[in-house]
Amino acid sequence: MNTDRVKKTFVLKGIGVSPGIIAGKAYLFDPLDIKLSFYKLSDMALIPKEIQRFKNALKESERQLLEIQENLKKTKIKEPLYVIDVHILILKDKKFISRTIKYIRRLGINAEWAVRMTLDRYKKIFEGVEDTYISGRISDVQHITQRVLRNLSGKKRETIWEIGDGVIVIAQDLSPADTAQLKMEKVKGFATDIGGRTSHTAIVARSLEIPAVAGLENITRVVGTGDDVIIDGSSGLVVVNPYLEMLERYEEKKLHYANAKDEYLKDAKLPAVTRDKHLVQVGGNIEFIEEIPTAVAHGAEYIGLYRTEFIYINSAKLPSEEDHFNNYRQVVETKELLWSTIRTFDLGGDKLPSDQKPVKELNPQMGLRAIRFCLKEVDLFKTQLRAIWRASAIGKVKILFPMISGIEELREAKQLLQETRDELLAEGVKIAPKMEIGAMIEVPSAAVIADQLAREVDFFSIGTNDLIQYALAIDRANDRLTYLYEPLHPAVLRLLKRVVDAAHEANIRVAMCGEMAGDPMYCLILLGMELDELSMSHLAIPRIKRIIRGSSLKEAKILLKKAMSFSVASEVHAYVQDYMTKHFSKEFQKEED
Ligand code: PEP
Ligand code: MG
Repeated sequence: MNTDRVKKTFVLKGIGVSPGIIAGKAYLFDPLDIKLSFYKLSDMALIPKEIQRFKNALKESERQLLEIQENLKKTKIKEPLYVIDVHILILKDKKFISRTIKYIRRLGINAEWAVRMTLDRYKKIFEGVEDTYISGRISDVQHITQRVLRNLSGKKRETIWEIGDGVIVIAQDLSPADTAQLKMEKVKGFATDIGGRTSHTAIVARSLEIPAVAGLENITRVVGTGDDVIIDGSSGLVVVNPYLEMLERYEEKKLHYANAKDEYLKDAKLPAVTRDKHLVQVGGNIEFIEEIPTAVAHGAEYIGLYRTEFIYINSAKLPSEEDHFNNYRQVVETKELLWSTIRTFDLGGDKLPSDQKPVKELNPQMGLRAIRFCLKEVDLFKTQLRAIWRASAIGKVKILFPMISGIEELREAKQLLQETRDELLAEGVKIAPKMEIGAMIEVPSAAVIADQLAREVDFFSIGTNDLIQYALAIDRANDRLTYLYEPLHPAVLRLLKRVVDAAHEANIRVAMCGEMAGDPMYCLILLGMELDELSMSHLAIPRIKRIIRGSSLKEAKILLKKAMSFSVASEVHAYVQDYMTKHFSKEFQKEED
């Protein structure tokens, strides 16, 4: 296409958050309105023309939406059809049109400005609505307004559906809802301005096995739709406008990566038993049921964390008990899995359902999320609990409550679980006689009172993504703070050790499902602590199992003891890194090159 000018080649460095290498065309996922101009009309005689311009933009927007809808009908993707209908309805809304025209006429401003004013007005109205479902619909109005504004600007922008081959999505940040919507063959990779390794966007990218680089700071400003890019999610590099030899070199690297992966898969299903016969059970973390076969192929023995919030994020309306049940049954029916740990939904924080934004919060990570949200929205919660019980009749299910911060919350959640059990039994519905109940240990207060919590549950699962962010006061999604995000911080090690010991003293099992469990650097430290189960993204499983098989519990305990004797985080880090790269050089090679 752009053969008439030679484009400059440059490389951007970010954080590799999902491994793999991919080359392709960039697609800029742009929040758009930043580049719009707002001005007063120089002459009142221009008003009719400006109104006509607005009407043309409306017409063009409708035409585009109908075209997208037609294209979608040819694919298997059915869900967005309904959303598009809603968008067309908004476009035709009489109030939306008349209000905008009124602004142009009365204030003598350009159509872009008037559209923005209408949007602001709608935002105010929606914000005042108590029903979160209705107030959440503002996102549809916003979406459609952006389309109209884009058409007013005269810029023809391809939509992701119209792009022929797969693309590499470039964005400031992708919310989990964005990434979930982009979950289609067309997306080959992600590169974002912000975000860190444990942001949910990164986790989703990894689970979809799409290479991704985050924390690039300004990629949206320097890369446009149609540019050629290479994403190296293993080393965190993005090459823009690569020249031929570069492309060839990356092709080779890609091949190498694919071979290495095949090599790992060969022994993925062997158990993780140390040389001195200590067994660690290794499970898979999933966000979508479609990931189960891949998790099993990579050696997952069970599902250690099913993040069910994605059921909400992915659907246009609230899922019913039947929707939940049909989803869970597909998990528990998988014969290869020893059990499935279903975590009740963790919404809030950076995970908001697409159409139901809970109250806007200044600090959502510490806001009304997870179990707190569930205990407020009891009906919503009970719908899910009933479905989990029903799934328990089909296969082995463990239930896991997220963000537990104290005994009261846990007891309240258990009480609701008991209520739903009694209701189902009274209705004659089949359920398992017993279901193991677990608490996520991801809030420091829970880690501190782990001995007390251990008496109330059947197992613990440590969520290090949150536990570390709260213990060290570091926003896990803030790429400017990644240098401080240190899982080997002495305070973190002490917290972890305390939790594991408390669990074992109470004779319950303790698992870890945070990203730390899947990072080979920490493998021996966790083994030394004697965690019973480690659950992780499927890509990490083969390597973790290999490291465990190549080590002994005895050496792990010695390493842990030494690591815990340091008081400076960087010293612990240096010591463990040195030990691991020396003793497991093969397992660490790939990340480095
Ligand atoms: C965690 O916090 O470590 C965890 C596994 O939960 P999530 O990443 O879904 O918050
Ligand atoms: Mg968490």
